Formats: sequence, structure tokens, C-alpha cells
Amino acid sequence: MRTPPPHRLSHFLPPALILGAGAVAGSLADMSSFFVSLFNVLPTLLLLLGGALCGVYGRLRQLFLLLVVYLLYYQLDTQVDHYQGNGTLRDDAPLVFHLGSLLLPLLYGVYGCWRERTHPLGDLLARSAVLLAVLGLADLLARAWPDALLGGMSTVFWPALQGNLVQLAYPLFLMAAGLLLAVYLRQPRPLHAAQALGLLALWWMLPRVFVLPHVLNTMSSLAMLALTVAVVHEAYQMAYRDELTGLPGRRALNERLQRLGRHYVLAMVDVDHFKRLNDRYGHDVGDQVLRMVAAHLRRVGGGGKAYRYGGEEFTLVFAGRDLEACRAPLETLRQTVEEYRLQVRDRHTRPKDDEQGRASRTGLAGQGIAVTVSIGVAFRTEEQPLPADVIKAADKALYAAKGAGRNRISVHGPRYRGAVRVARRAG
Ligand code: GH3
Ligand code: MG
Ligand code: MG
Repeated sequence: MRTPPPHRLSHFLPPALILGAGAVAGSLADMSSFFVSLFNVLPTLLLLLGGALCGVYGRLRQLFLLLVVYLLYYQLDTQVDHYQGNGTLRDDAPLVFHLGSLLLPLLYGVYGCWRERTHPLGDLLARSAVLLAVLGLADLLARAWPDALLGGMSTVFWPALQGNLVQLAYPLFLMAAGLLLAVYLRQPRPLHAAQALGLLALWWMLPRVFVLPHVLNTMSSLAMLALTVAVVHEAYQMAYRDELTGLPGRRALNERLQRLGRHYVLAMVDVDHFKRLNDRYGHDVGDQVLRMVAAHLRRVGGGGKAYRYGGEEFTLVFAGRDLEACRAPLETLRQTVEEYRLQVRDRHTRPKDDEQGRASRTGLAGQGIAVTVSIGVAFRTEEQPLPADVIKAADKALYAAKGAGRNRISVHGPRYRGAVRVARRAG
């Protein structure tokens, strides 16, 4: 019953920027010799660099995607070089080009959808076997029956449709793009976004390789760069982002705490009686509660930034703010969580849109799961100069809020003569 993490623009932004730059660079008729040399070596460099990163992070899927793009580049580069040097195509150009435009979507689509499940070595062998079998078969056919193969590939199935690729390539590209999009929708991750956009970029590139002089080198390089960046992006996310809630995690908080100035407020937010919720409704519902609370925290006002501290505890950092500026947003947060009713959903009862979701929440008020949070707040003072001291003070305040009955905010600070002041609950 796990709900998938949300789709994010940030997954698509890096590959879109990189591939957009590739489209711009590839469309240039002229390029300085510096960049021409750079893009001549870049695909090989990126295969090595990206391949090494994929190895380190166990990303066999992306390793094979890089390999497929590189093999296409390598095959076509010889053809393009010959065409640019002599002004004519090599005899085998149509065969190589058409085979490339069919094998690219086929292999890229297969590897993009093929999840790493088995032991890495077994996985590596299986993927290599598929690559060798497909390329070996293509090579055999191309050597033994080149004319028959070319004829077969060039068959026109739909005379009304005119394109620059052989017609069979279009359904293959469409199918691969659809599958990769479905993979992203099922599991929204930077790698899945990059591989889907990468395929579209290569689809855009292929009909232009003999028309635009630099498009093959630039677009192949940047498609490989987008995949490599996505591997790094995910490694970063693994270290800094909490997978369940999507909020930045403890490591990100620690780094943020190092860079705070002299004025800031920290709030520790803890779900009340969470263990009871877990015991009563199960761990999955507990996870939904954490996601719901995280979603409210993400939207807290007053410039607060939310982090998952651990378990059912969260930290809000209000950089450059004083206590007065944070009171109202924190109270609003406490109230909105209190008023919200979590409808336990599975895929069949999920509301179709926000309105239906709102209607079911208000219509069934009292039937959903009610959750409350307690909040401990502290700020920097001479007595507690370090962020770690302020966190400790906020923790103390949180403890006091729990002791005072939960679902409330308490503040720790010398303004209250070292004592913890517990705000009365509204209503
Ligand atoms: P209090 O009101 O005093 O905060 O009580 P509590 O029950 O919320 O606090 P307690 O620390 O006793 O329980 C926290 C529970 O949170 C225990 C642990 O099993 C559960 N928990 C921690 N991380 C997760 C998680 O990621 N998902 C789920 N479902 N439960 C978690
Ligand atoms: Mg708790
Ligand atoms: Mg706790």
C-alpha cells in the first residue's frame, strides 16, 4: 500500500538543461576548434567517467545505457567523418544508420526498463549476454545478407507517413519512450527522468546526424552526461534526502546548522503518540502519517525549512528570524495538523482530484485518523551559542510540551528565565 514518492520538476530540470544545451550546440553550423576537439573526446571520457560512477554505485542499468549510446555514437562517427571528409556517404552508410536507428530504441528501451534485481554479477552477465546476442545477430545478418536486411528495414508500411528514419524506427521509439515514461511515473527518480529525456534527445538527433555537422558528438556527449549527472544526483539524494518523506534528512540538517548566522530559531516537531498509531493501524499507515506531517511541515510559513530529524521527529530551521516571527506559522502548523483527517488510502480509494479529496475529508470529518504534533522551540542566546545547544534546548522545550499534555508549542529561552514556557492550546 506504499504510495509512490511525488513526481518532481527537479528530476527533469538537470537533464532538460543539459539536453537543451546539447540541442543548441548541436544545431550550430560552426563551432570553434576548441569545442570541436572537446566534443571529439567527450563521449569516450564520459563512458569512462560515467561507467566508473555506475560501477561504484552499482548502477548497471545506466552503465548499459551509456554503452548503448556510445556504441551508436562510435558507429555513426566513422560514417559522419567520412561524409564530411569526402562529401559522399560510405557504401555501408544506409545499413549502419538504419540498423542504429532500430537497435538504439530497442536496446535503450530494454535496458531502461530492466530493473537491477539479481546479484550484480549475474545481472552484469545477463545484460552483457543480451547486448552480445543482439549485436552479434545484427552483425551476422549485415555480413551475410546485407541487401535483404537493408530491404527489410526500409520497408514502407505506411506510405502516407514520411520521416527521415526507416518507418519501423518510429513505433520502436514510441514504445521505448512510453515504457520509460511509465517507469518514471511508477518510480519518480532522477535516473528515470534522465533516461526518458535522453531517449527523446537521441530521437531528435538521429535524423540530423548527416545534416548538422556537430550534432552527433554534442548530443551523444550530453545524453551521456545527463545519465552520469543523474547517477550523481541520486547518490546525493541517498545521502541527503529522506526517502519516506522526501524532506532533507539529518545529514542535510547538520550541514545547514554549520552555516547559520547569529539569528535563527529552531523548532523540534514530534508526532504525538505515534507508537500507538503504529500499533493500532500498522506501520504502513504510520508511514502515511509521517508523509502527511512532512507535507504540512514543507509548507510552513515564516521562511521555515523542514528536515526529518529521525523517526517521527522533524526539525524546522528559521534562519535569520526571531521568535516573534515564528510564532504564528508554528501555531498555524500545529492547528492544520490537528484539523486534518488522514483517510487511509489504497490505490482504489485514492481521490481523483484535490476537490474530491477535500470533500471526502470534510464529509467524513471524525472518521479519518486525527494526528497531533508537539513543538519545542529555541533560539540562539549567549548561554546557548551553538546550534547543537539550541537543538538541545528545543528538545527540552518539546519534552515540556509533551509533559503539559501534547498538541502544543513550548518555547525555551532566557527570556523566560531559563524556564520552559508552554503556550496554551488554542480552542
Ligand atoms: P510521544 O507522544 O511521547 O512522542 O510518543 P510516541 O509514541 O510518539 O513516541 P515514541 O518515541 O515512543 O515512538 C516513536 C515510534 O516511532 C517508535 C517507532 O517504531 C516509530 N517509528 C520510527 N520511525 C518510523 C518510520 O519511519 N515509520 C513508522 N511507521 N514508524 C516509525
Ligand atoms: Mg512522538
Ligand atoms: Mg519521538
